[in-house]
Amino acid sequence: MTDEQPKLKLNFIQQIIDDDISANKNDSRVHTRFPPEPNGYLHIGHAKSICLNFGLADKYGGKCNLRFDDTNPSKEEIEYVQSIKEDVAWLGFDWEDRLFFASDYFEQFYDHAVTLIKNGKAFVCDLNLEDMRQRRGTLTSPGQESPFRNREVSENLDLFERMRKGEFADGFCTLRAKIDMAAANMNMRDPVMYRVMHATHHRSSDDWCIYPMYDWAHGLEDSIEGITHSICTLEFEDHRPLYDWFLDQLNLHHPQQVEFARLDLNYTMMSKRKLLELVQEGLVKGWDDPRLPTISGMRRRGYPPTAIREFCSRIGVAKVKGVVDIALLQHCVRDELNKKAPRVMGVLDPLKVVITNFPEDLVEELDAINNPEDPSAGTRKVPFSRTLYIERGDFMEDPPRKFFRLGPGREVRLRYGYFVTCTEAIKNEAGEITELRCTYDPATKGGDSPDGRKVKGTLHWVSAAHALDAEVRLYDHLFSVENPSAISDGSDFKDNLNPDSLKVLTGCKIEPSVNDVRPGDGFQFERNGYFCVDKDSTVERLIFNRTLTLKDAWAKIQKKKK
Ligand code: ATP
Ligand code: MG
Repeated sequence: MTDEQPKLKLNFIQQIIDDDISANKNDSRVHTRFPPEPNGYLHIGHAKSICLNFGLADKYGGKCNLRFDDTNPSKEEIEYVQSIKEDVAWLGFDWEDRLFFASDYFEQFYDHAVTLIKNGKAFVCDLNLEDMRQRRGTLTSPGQESPFRNREVSENLDLFERMRKGEFADGFCTLRAKIDMAAANMNMRDPVMYRVMHATHHRSSDDWCIYPMYDWAHGLEDSIEGITHSICTLEFEDHRPLYDWFLDQLNLHHPQQVEFARLDLNYTMMSKRKLLELVQEGLVKGWDDPRLPTISGMRRRGYPPTAIREFCSRIGVAKVKGVVDIALLQHCVRDELNKKAPRVMGVLDPLKVVITNFPEDLVEELDAINNPEDPSAGTRKVPFSRTLYIERGDFMEDPPRKFFRLGPGREVRLRYGYFVTCTEAIKNEAGEITELRCTYDPATKGGDSPDGRKVKGTLHWVSAAHALDAEVRLYDHLFSVENPSAISDGSDFKDNLNPDSLKVLTGCKIEPSVNDVRPGDGFQFERNGYFCVDKDSTVERLIFNRTLTLKDAWAKIQKKKK
């Protein structure tokens, strides 16, 4: 688990940049990029990378590009490009006029490959993938050179051109760098630069039937764009020598690759492949399902972008891997919503209450505070009448001593309203309570008793005739185990999905001030948590997502520690 870190401490990447600036490297420029592959929607891990890359550019007065690393047409789609742009902008970052696509550099990549061939540093290899794998060697033994390794430059140039022209079937041959089959770093053992793939690309269409591999393309993309610091996650550390080798061989502008630990959160997972599986198999409702750690899912659930940025800043960047407690993310969300969310009353599981001594046709408009954290938010009126709803769980027929809410003969305060005392619980034939009868004390208007009488419980409520009907969706962890990614006993990761991650409640009753809302609008339903209007919500059918409950597990843990 990551502890809170002091905010102003330099992270190790800032240290590297500071040193580079002192040495006047790259004329002291700072230019970063966020380079997603458009093969899925962005998640909270990507948010960390986005905040880091755009954040550094901002801190040093530099620039940050948004670049699509679209070199693999088999998995990439325009839908993903759109969603990624939307998510980065929603998080609050601006790539200005610097939106780039690796596919726009395909011709340059090709030319650079020709240069390497001419310099005897690359060759066309006819081994298939399986043969190549067998000759790769192991961590402790060297690989075997390809029988095609010593082809003449002219032959390589001719074959490579024919690869491009489409004369070969998928997988028939590859272009490989000629480095060292005995290198201790397996990535340096004559890695593949191009493969033949007759696939239609979402931007370059059918212009190409050879596509560059990540390691070949990525450094070139950075170099072409004049990137100074190419920040990536730790699994690319072993690829850095290859990144460096390509750029050195070609004598091009050479960005510095810097690796940091990727974000991992408990009770969820970040693998795009697995998230895609959940989406495709209908186990969640699309990429923006509020249970997913995707940015679009968090947006739909009501997480503010400021809270996500705050979370990313608090977890910091480091070289060591660790799993961050999802409670910290939720803490940041609550912190933000607590400051901003207007308070209203909403009853999720309504139980009818009739105030028998309240006049039949009277409707009183009571004053309610919109946000105790923010006096400038003012007050509103809530109607009070003879028939109300309270939360079913706020009544017990036979309450234990510590239950301070309503029970037969007990008195409680209705928030902003009156003291009421329960006189009778009415049941149906099945013995279920269908209605409560109460009396109210007119002298307690506003919630205070002039005779100093105290009550322990304060309940939220809504006036039955005025309440709005709503559907409410409650969420819990997507997985029922703490670290679903770490389970490697061969079982299906989907076996650990939490069967109770979504609960749909219908017939919820919300106070009438919430009548003119739009998707994304957020509220605190007093005592029940933070809620936001779902994108499918309409005037006829109000739908709310519960963003979070009010219980802050993170704050509790921190308190205990002190
Ligand atoms: P894959 O490459 O397997 O499709 P990916 O999650 O690496 O998945 P990319 O689109 O390549 O997806 O990621 C874009 C950028 O976001 C990369 O620079 C990557 O290092 C960074 N990134 C991805 N996942 C995380 C994470 N969990 N924490 C921090 N950064 C991440
Ligand atoms: Mg990647």
